[in-house]
Amino acid sequence: MTLKERDKKHLWHPLTQHKIHPEALPIVRAKGALLYDENDKAYIDGIASWYTAMYGHCNDFILKKVQDQMYRLDQIVFAGFTHEPAIRLSEELIKILPNNQEKIFFSDNGSTANEVGIKMALQYHFNKGEKRNTIIAFEDGFHGDTFGAMSASGLSVYNGPFEDFFIDVQRIPTPNAQNINKVLEQLQTIILCNEVAAFIYEPLVQGANAMHMFEERYLNQLLEICKKHSVITIADEVMTGFGKTGKTFASEYVETKPDIISMSKALTAGFVPMAVTSCTQDIYDAFLDDSVGKAFFHAHTYSANPIACSVALAAIELLGSKEFQDNIDRIVVSHKAFDAKIKDHSKVKTTRQKGVIYALELKIDMDRYGKKRYEIFDHFMQKGIFLRPLGSTVYILAPYVTTNDQLDEIYAAITELLEVV
Ligand SMILES: *Cc1c(COP(=O)(O)O)cnc(C)c1O
Repeated sequence: MTLKERDKKHLWHPLTQHKIHPEALPIVRAKGALLYDENDKAYIDGIASWYTAMYGHCNDFILKKVQDQMYRLDQIVFAGFTHEPAIRLSEELIKILPNNQEKIFFSDNGSTANEVGIKMALQYHFNKGEKRNTIIAFEDGFHGDTFGAMSASGLSVYNGPFEDFFIDVQRIPTPNAQNINKVLEQLQTIILCNEVAAFIYEPLVQGANAMHMFEERYLNQLLEICKKHSVITIADEVMTGFGKTGKTFASEYVETKPDIISMSKALTAGFVPMAVTSCTQDIYDAFLDDSVGKAFFHAHTYSANPIACSVALAAIELLGSKEFQDNIDRIVVSHKAFDAKIKDHSKVKTTRQKGVIYALELKIDMDRYGKKRYEIFDHFMQKGIFLRPLGSTVYILAPYVTTNDQLDEIYAAITELLEVV
């Protein structure tokens, strides 16, 4: 039996309607920006496997560090015990995070990082004797698939059957030059009419919402109102974190800093799952008490797994290196040059870029998971390029190690798509 046939026997894939799309493509190995299938056909990983493998797949530097750690300490309960990889990672993260962040809490994935952030915010008020139960979030935001994170996610394509079970979330549109005054007013009203605990947002770029982007000065105005009313601000940097926007964290562009930041994905460079929720000293202090009841009773079995911590440490070291900063600058410039060539094409509705994130919206009507979307996906795969269109938006978020030739191959495939679509 082939891998494809064996896959079908017992596996249930994410985001997949198995009746329409019965086949998954087996990938047998990966290196740098390339994925290889069973026939050794190479595909450029144009989205870094959901923005994780930003340093390139199977990065040798990271591999070496992980290997050393694996022989020394694999796993230890993080309640009551500690270890050097977690301690060192907390120190390194605090160095690169916005400077109001002081404490590091571990979990397993982006959804749980947000779940932790939301629970921290709810309990922060609870511990201070206030019952605040409303969360504010953007329309069309995405924060993950566990219940709290899903409640905050406005993309109904994922939420349909579960909406009756959600925590209380009020939504505002993402701000722009036209609507900013209305959005500010809407935010004020929600805060005055509800007991608002927190505002959770993806800073500047909404990944799952087809890389929708908005300006830092408008976000800053929203955050200022939240601060004024002691509404905890939670920046979901799960996608934007670790260099993708051109700064280490997107929150660096914004004057008002968040109280809580969630991160995952590129944190562990595509090697193993892990997530972090960081917070200010003020948040942390609200949980200190003589009674156990005010503590944060949230744990995951693999919290601060030493191997995952060693991956993250190696990745952060790479991110800070001249080599990788140069790579980021190179890709930013390269995308800009491609954009100048393509943005006025008759089939292009609009384009946008923030750092190494580049998105191009096609001037055609299509469903997010419709037939056309799969045709476009196939167009790229036949050319040996893995891009994952979000509705009519094609975006590139390739590993930092993607070469100029590989970038040109991606651009050429997009340009060809515009001729055939
Ligand atoms: C991917 C993502 C999540 C969810 O992370 P998982 O690891 O898939 O649970 C949350 N927020 C944002 C912004 C994301 O891009």
